[in-house]
Amino acid sequence: MTTPEPVSINRLNPDQFKHWPCDQDHCLTCALCSSTCPVSGIDGFDPRKIIRMISLGLQTELVESRWPWICTMCGKCEHVCPMSIHIPDIMRGIRSLRDRNQVPGILHKGLEAALKSGNNLGLPQEDFVFILEEVAEEIAQEPGFEGFSVSVDKEGANILTTIHNKLVNTHTEDLKHWWKIFYAAGEDWTIPAENWEGTNWGMFTGDDAAMKVMAGRIAENMARLKAKNLLWPE
Ligand code: SF4
Ligand code: SF4
Repeated sequence: MTTPEPVSINRLNPDQFKHWPCDQDHCLTCALCSSTCPVSGIDGFDPRKIIRMISLGLQTELVESRWPWICTMCGKCEHVCPMSIHIPDIMRGIRSLRDRNQVPGILHKGLEAALKSGNNLGLPQEDFVFILEEVAEEIAQEPGFEGFSVSVDKEGANILTTIHNKLVNTHTEDLKHWWKIFYAAGEDWTIPAENWEGTNWGMFTGDDAAMKVMAGRIAENMARLKAKNLLWPE
């Protein structure tokens, strides 16, 4: 049997509901996706159900449902699907069809903040740099890391790394793990002072335009700082 070429629904709009030409019709209902999905069962969520709902013409119900927002978009289902159905793309496509004001609160607010400020927290640049320097000072007090400092906006570094907003909010301890590895490896690295957000909620909410803005800013930072490699750990 030849595996059919999957078709993404990323750029569809509600007018195309009646003729939704995605690959769900190739589904065998084997449930391999359901059994591998890490969030199967949460509030009744199951990727196979999503695919079946599309096949049954229940797209409007899906767009209004909480289910597509439970998916983490990890891609495990797609990896095991014998029919190569692009389930994460389908989830994104469904999310893209929801009115932007109906996007779940934290994602909607975070994305709006990111588009305005360059990060999902709306953290001003001076506060961001202050937090980085505080964490660096704590590291420098540990044995073996004397003299450690954080490198912000350095030109020509080997690695430019983005930051997940939680690392400068509730999980600053996690920053230390990365930085200690860089230090031990003698790595030449830097963090951009602006547009440092590595979490692209444009991608997760199905907002292609916002996704491009966020990704474009990272590319601009790479060019501005003449960095050689990008570490984008999201
Ligand atoms: S793994 Fe693929 S073919 Fe099997 S139920 Fe899921 S979507 Fe359908
Ligand atoms: S991409 Fe979504 S549906 Fe697929 S396995 Fe991951 S969480 Fe489950």
